[in-house]
This record gives sequence, structure tokens and C-alpha cells, in this order.
Amino acid sequence: MRTIKEIVAAEAVREGAGVIVHRPFPTRQIDNIDPFLLLDHMGPNLYAPGSAKGFPDHPHRGFETVSYMLEGALEHRDSAGNKGVIAAGDVQWMTAGSGVVHSEMPEENFREQGGRLNGFQLWVNLPKSDKMTAPRYQDTLSANIPVYESEDKSVWVKVIAGNSMGKQAVISTHIPILYLHVILQPGASFSQAVPMAHTALAYVISGQGKFAEKIAEADQLVIFASSDSQESETIEFTAEGKEPLSVLLIAGQPINEPIARYGPFVMNYQAEIKQALVDYQEGRMGQIA
Ligand code: FE
Repeated sequence: MRTIKEIVAAEAVREGAGVIVHRPFPTRQIDNIDPFLLLDHMGPNLYAPGSAKGFPDHPHRGFETVSYMLEGALEHRDSAGNKGVIAAGDVQWMTAGSGVVHSEMPEENFREQGGRLNGFQLWVNLPKSDKMTAPRYQDTLSANIPVYESEDKSVWVKVIAGNSMGKQAVISTHIPILYLHVILQPGASFSQAVPMAHTALAYVISGQGKFAEKIAEADQLVIFASSDSQESETIEFTAEGKEPLSVLLIAGQPINEPIARYGPFVMNYQAEIKQALVDYQEGRMGQIA
């Protein structure tokens, strides 16, 4: 069974136009967990009518942003002319590649009525060979994302990327990535084989879980130990206590290349960051119409 390297607590950070996010990394202690560059838990924040905040126009280059909503709704617009709403259960897997400018703002009805905003953003790095690829959006409605449910309904698994419980995700990724949302009723267990060479993380959304004999709770990130072996080992966890356990299980093949990052740009070398800034300032990443 896969052992634990460490369990870290998310830090509360103000982002965008004033959205409070819980961020297990990057922090002062952890810059990245190759191939992942950032994990943000947006909320859960309760907004009064008219007060919901979002993420106004900003650029990205050199990696992918993956948004998964649990509650509330965001409207995205981008410099390629795409426009859409990501609501509860939906996923948007955006490959920024050579560069996009986008905005992620509360959807009009949600902003007017107020309510809870709860969701995630994961940043997945791209290998050098794909950093300047053409931008791509994979907007995926909840209804199209495969879900496994056990007969007794104690285990629920949404397969956002990769393969689990006989279900294959519909979203395609540049490098092998597993992204699961797992909900376990009290006492239920879940196990998943993951290559030892792949980074593996479990973020507890709510409830209390037992991971390789250690307990983790809401807003804690379990970082599993890895090695360079291609053999798979089982990651296993159990819902402890009286509440259901809700967990994101995220794994991926490390890229093992240099990382130069500055805000929304993640490249291999500093000179490429300077070029990204120039390209953005001179309008080469476009603008939102
Ligand atoms: Fe963004």
C-alpha cells in the first residue's frame, strides 16, 4: 500500500477580485508537486445577493487550468471567443498553451440571487514540447462525466480524468493524469492502484478520512510517497466518523523539467517568462471581445 510523505493544511488566500481560496500549494514550503503547480479550493463562500466575486480578465501561458465546480456558477469568456457557464458538477479543462486571456466571473443569475460558491482549480504543467501548443477548452457538463456508484450507494466516484472502477474519463490530457472525486459514506473504503512513479495527492473536501493509518480532515492535502518504480501500488482510504468523506484524488506523471513561473505564466526558463510578459503586453494573447 502506498505510504504518506506528509499531510499539509491549506492556507487561506485572497485571489481575483477578492475570492477567498484555500490553497494547499504553492505555499512558502511547497512550490509545486510535479506535474501540479497549484490547487485552489474556491470557497465554500456564502454570498449575499449581488456580492459574489470572481476572477476578471487575466492571461495564462504554458500550462492547463482545470476548474471543477461543486456549488454556484461561473461564466467564462476568453480571447478565442469562447463563452460558457460552469455550474455544479461541471468541469472545464483549459489548455492555455501559447496563451489565452480569460475571465471567470459569477454567472448573472447566481450573482443576483447570491448563494454558495464552492469549487476547485488545479494547475497542471505542460511538458516543454506542449507549452506553446494552441489553446484548447474542454468544457464538460456534469451529465457527460462518468460516475461509478456501488450497489449499496456507499461509494461514489466521478472520473474527471483517467480511469477508475471500470470507467474511462471523457476529458483527454497531455500527460497521464488521474482526477477523481470520491464520496464515501461512513465506514466505506475506496482503493485505487497508481504507479509509484506518479505523484499522488488526496485533498479532503469534507468529512474525515483514514489514509494509510493517518487521519486527514477538511482542507488538508495528503501527499503520498513516490519512487521511480513503474509498478503500481494501492492507495486506500476509509471514511471515519459520522459524516460522509468527500475527497479529490489527483495523480500524475512528473514532467521532470525546469520550472520558471511568474504569476499566470509557467515556462522552463526566465527568458521565456520575459517573452510571455512582452507577448501579453503587446496583445499577442488576444483580448476578450
Ligand atoms: Fe485563470
